[in-house]
Amino acid sequence: MATQTAGTKVKAIDCLHFIDGQYVPSRNGKTFANINPATGEVLGTVAEGGREEVDLAVQAARKALKGPWKKMTAHDRGAVLRRIGDLILERKDELAMLETLDTGKPLWLSNSVDIPRAAYNFHFFADYIRALGTEAFQQDDVAINYSIRRPVGVVGLINPWNLPLLLLTWKLAPCLAAGNTTVMKPAELTPMTATVLAEICRDAGVPDGVVNLVHGFGPDSAGAALTEHPDVNAISFTGETTTGKIIMSAAAKTLKRLSYELGGKNPNIIFADSDLDEVIETTIKSSFINQGEVCLCGSRIYVERTAYDQFVEKFVAKTKQLTVGDPFDPNTKVGALISEEHFDRVNSYIQLAKQEGGQILTGGKRPESLQQGYYLEPTIITGLDNSCRVVREEIFGPVVTITPFDREEEVIELANDTHYGLSASLWTNDLRRAHRVAGQIEAGIIWVNTWFLRDLRTPFGGMKQSGIGREGGMHSFEFYSELSNICIKL
Ligand code: NAD
Repeated sequence: MATQTAGTKVKAIDCLHFIDGQYVPSRNGKTFANINPATGEVLGTVAEGGREEVDLAVQAARKALKGPWKKMTAHDRGAVLRRIGDLILERKDELAMLETLDTGKPLWLSNSVDIPRAAYNFHFFADYIRALGTEAFQQDDVAINYSIRRPVGVVGLINPWNLPLLLLTWKLAPCLAAGNTTVMKPAELTPMTATVLAEICRDAGVPDGVVNLVHGFGPDSAGAALTEHPDVNAISFTGETTTGKIIMSAAAKTLKRLSYELGGKNPNIIFADSDLDEVIETTIKSSFINQGEVCLCGSRIYVERTAYDQFVEKFVAKTKQLTVGDPFDPNTKVGALISEEHFDRVNSYIQLAKQEGGQILTGGKRPESLQQGYYLEPTIITGLDNSCRVVREEIFGPVVTITPFDREEEVIELANDTHYGLSASLWTNDLRRAHRVAGQIEAGIIWVNTWFLRDLRTPFGGMKQSGIGREGGMHSFEFYSELSNICIKL
């Protein structure tokens, strides 16, 4: 199937499940349509999996735990992971185009962030597993204790649609590095790059059955079947907080290990002593990159009152310059939202902002020139306080609120007044204040004078209702491996 966008001929793919080393359709032949958010057109079909396909995939994954994968050393698994990363880079153009077709994000973003970072996830964990040790404790002359690391077993990886390949590989790389086998369930809205990744894993030398992929929906579909399956040992889930709650109750019946990366409503705190031009340049990204559909986007902007007017004036002016449009056009800064349903949801928050007494300083509507596809202008809202739903609830689109503050203690309280706790950005040139405020913000990831600067060795995850557990570096291995302590009496 081919689709024509901005003069680029791009081939979309029909998506099948990948079970035990083979692409297969659903047993009953059921499929659903994959829609291009930039045009509303059908890109192709996706096999719709359910209990039966998940069961076949889990059986294949269980069998593969005892096969050649088990005999591979960490060094050899690292070599396979390196090859996966290399093959992703070799197929970068194709993967970037598929990612953009599926998500509506600008092609330059897929090319410069999503796909290279997906490759790096494999390269990073390939090296990490080869260097990873375990603990040892000597109890004087009485005993020596040391721990050994083993795979957890079959791990279900359930992913959202906003950074499809990047987030899937963030889970898959450490999952494989630790020797597990897996059944992946990508988001129903973005199935294409995950489908290609299965082939890349096979080409890189991953034995049959180690990596399986079942497409489908969440409730009463492939997602729910995976979380309920008795032979799945653990679930790593990234998605909405409400979905996390449902999965937790489903997984409780078989007491699965869970890792959660959930929603956020991240504060962006700007003190008057910061470098305003740098702040604005980064805040444009932290607000609107990927159409604001990044869990780490700073959607609540708090600005010290003495800098407020200047910030608002410059920020609105820069935002108006962002080109919204065809994701394949290199000048596009903001592409299409993921789906019609999501467009309506984000739009409903803009209408709510008006009812709550907010002022829309720019944006708030579909660009007049774009009547097809799910495009929305980047939107800036002022005049709402922390009691408003628009300031409290995750919108997950190109919509931010700006609120002035007067005192440090006041802004800490405002920032923490949420049940989320994923990330925060602080802007100040006062080092002591940066350290003091950062230590009081209730978030798992806190940036000072930057945003989205990542070192994969660091803990990544949220507190409160933004997640459970941490991933990254050795934290990923805490989730993806079982440790046994061996105590030898001397
Ligand atoms: P979602 O929760 O609707 O869906 C995520 C995945 O879960 C999909 O694959 C879906 O099919 C599946 N699913 C849905 N219901 C299920 C069920 N009952 N059982 C099993 N699986 C089920 O989330 P989304 O709309 O795809 O993604 C957006 C959300 O993800 C936002 O809240 C965003 O903040 C969050 N997110 C968090 C991070 C992070 O690192 N914390 C990263 C990216 C996205």
